[in-house]
Amino acid sequence: MQRRTKIVATLGPATDDPKVLDQMIEAGLDVVRLNFSHGSAEEHRMRAENASNHARAYGRHIGVLADLQGPKIRIERFKNTHVTLEEGAQFTLSTEWDSEGGTEEGVGISYRELVNDVKRGDTLLLDDGRIVLWVDQVTASEIKCRVVVGGDLSNNKGINRQGGGLSARALTNKDRADIKTAAGMQVDYLAVSFPRSAADIHEARQLLRDAGGQGGIVAKIERAEAVAAIEEIIEASDAVMIARGDLGVEIGDAGLPPVQKHIIRLARTMNRVVITATQMMESMIENQIPTRAEVFDVANAVLDGTDAVMLSAETASGKYPAKAVAAMDRVCREAEKQLAVRISDHRINTEFKYIDEAIAMASMYTANHLGAKAIIALTESGSTPLWMSRISSGIPIYALTKHAATRRKVTLYRGVYPVSFDLLSTNHAEVNKEAVDELVRRGAVRTGDLVIITKGDLMGVHGGTNAMKIVRVGDMVEVGA
Ligand code: PGA
Ligand code: MN
Repeated sequence: MQRRTKIVATLGPATDDPKVLDQMIEAGLDVVRLNFSHGSAEEHRMRAENASNHARAYGRHIGVLADLQGPKIRIERFKNTHVTLEEGAQFTLSTEWDSEGGTEEGVGISYRELVNDVKRGDTLLLDDGRIVLWVDQVTASEIKCRVVVGGDLSNNKGINRQGGGLSARALTNKDRADIKTAAGMQVDYLAVSFPRSAADIHEARQLLRDAGGQGGIVAKIERAEAVAAIEEIIEASDAVMIARGDLGVEIGDAGLPPVQKHIIRLARTMNRVVITATQMMESMIENQIPTRAEVFDVANAVLDGTDAVMLSAETASGKYPAKAVAAMDRVCREAEKQLAVRISDHRINTEFKYIDEAIAMASMYTANHLGAKAIIALTESGSTPLWMSRISSGIPIYALTKHAATRRKVTLYRGVYPVSFDLLSTNHAEVNKEAVDELVRRGAVRTGDLVIITKGDLMGVHGGTNAMKIVRVGDMVEVGA
């Protein structure tokens, strides 16, 4: 059985070794993430290029996701790169502190608005919540805090406010420049960090289009405000990422599991893709195997219905990038054997709006009830396989298309596999045979198997899928023979 859940892995210094990249591809990597919080535009370009070159050598299609830094509020730097904060001590965040001169007493912050966004009694969380500060007093340039949970604090760590409500705009000037870089690279997905509303997503999409980029927009759900506006944000996006790191800091770690389940269900119902991210295999930054808790986390995300699971530091800067991908791969495969993720009553009582949507639903219903071995969607934009993949099923969906961008886009869709396929004929019976022959060559189906094919009367036209065909491998009409 092929794995249906997709694996997104962040590239970084630890994956720059070509051998490591090859091992990750062999282990089943589907999408690479470029984290624009670190590294130069040139580094990102190089990494994306290397990934697609290596993928090509394996005959694989790999998607590229560029993840913007966003308005992450950060402390500046310490004189000696880090300090140790003692519980009960005073610690000041100041807009006037020398940006390189942090000490045990305090550190600089470049985001001047912070003094207006916090008040006495607030809780500030630094370094994803590892350090907890209680706000004692706020002046025009300083936030004087008491250390509630101390520990090691190093340069440039993030700051969140418990409960959310920090006012920074979603797209910074750096993000605007990075969008141009991403557009120039023709990335398949652009992830927007810390969006508060649908308007932030629309703005990012417009900037990407204006710069000539065609990629889909991923909304990272990592603010309390985004959870409150979840429906409009999903509607505005192509995909959402449950960014559990920052989100957990804002809403509290205990709030994460129900929110994850809710967002996955809602995204699938709204015909959107969903990625579950952050700390999934965190201990593998240092270790060769995951903890039992991490195994359960990945498996549970699969059972929740996520399209993709994501690796961050585990691959970007961890000791065992390929082993982290391999661990996710084996956990996903095993979880997918459970019946609960292979049957569906999705949309059984709703009406369909579009013709291609109706064909996609009919195909899945038929495939699930007839015991089809594979579904072939002859597709231009990938919209029919997207509809199909919103239905839980164990049947592989092959997206056959001549468009490289569509093949890379579907790398994120659960249960959808991209196949390069050019129409050599306009005769429907001939095209059916060519398509099925392609799957036979891949060992995906064999004589006697039932296969469902969807396509449009006018093959080669976007959104034109209006036909479903059921064929038996080996029993197909030979045309022109
Ligand atoms: P980040 O986003 O890795 O860019 O911070 C993911 C998260 O916050 O979980
Ligand atoms: Mn984040």
